[in-house]
Amino acid sequence: MNETELILTSILNCPRVDLYARELDLSMEQKDRYDRMLQRRANGEPLQYILGQCDFMGIQLDVDARVLIPRPETELLVELAIRELKTLRFGRPLRILDLGTGSGNVAIALAQFIDRARITSVDISSEAIEVARRNAAVHDVEHRIHFIREDMVHLLQHDNPDGPPYDLIISNPPYIKTSHLASLPRDVQREPVIALDGGEDGLYFYRQIIEKGPRFLERRGLLLMEIGDGQGPAIEEIFHKNKYYSNVRFEKDYTNIDRIVAAYRKDVLWGI
Ligand code: GLN
Repeated sequence: MNETELILTSILNCPRVDLYARELDLSMEQKDRYDRMLQRRANGEPLQYILGQCDFMGIQLDVDARVLIPRPETELLVELAIRELKTLRFGRPLRILDLGTGSGNVAIALAQFIDRARITSVDISSEAIEVARRNAAVHDVEHRIHFIREDMVHLLQHDNPDGPPYDLIISNPPYIKTSHLASLPRDVQREPVIALDGGEDGLYFYRQIIEKGPRFLERRGLLLMEIGDGQGPAIEEIFHKNKYYSNVRFEKDYTNIDRIVAAYRKDVLWGI
């Protein structure tokens, strides 16, 4: 659907075909809402914030300026996680750590698609945690997600808050270079800067997660992260400096860009 269609179907609460089935008849109040929404859009607000919703893997999530808008690329991250988790045959629940949960998209999708998933979701922003909690409740998975409001870097410096190690650490961390934030498109600049700012070289969170991750992972546990355009080689180097991972591999998105990095924790950790 184009933007006008999305706005109209949201105001009229109808499917797209209804827009064309007969002459559109908006009440005064609906016409007002339509004008206000177009005005907000003209002012550079992202469409998803105006609609208050977005679709992630077929799941409708509430979003507003407190959280990053989930992107289609992140669906690849979750699809890969699902594929990997399905190969784990042991009978116990699967333990997942979701770093930087935002709207809760990754955690909620994993909980919906994998019945055995038990997720700990961490975000530095209490506002994001509020949004994510509500989304989890709407989709009836809140009992399988433990939300923690905490700086992920701080959390990683301490002990695992949840006891036994995780089968999967998953993250779409902030990865834009601080110096690039000001030149991002106008709508992206409306998103929370803490969800975007990856530090001076954009790699700050990767370094932290790669370095501290092994202590939180099961033997042969998986670390899966989304990465920014062109960050592959630098991230590969960070992994290779760290001796606790094996099988570091990259997966491409539909535009043929390395978008996901996957690595397994080695069996034995020496001196950690
Ligand atoms: N987990 C959320 C997403 O993937 C938020 C990520 C973030 O805030 N950097 O969309």
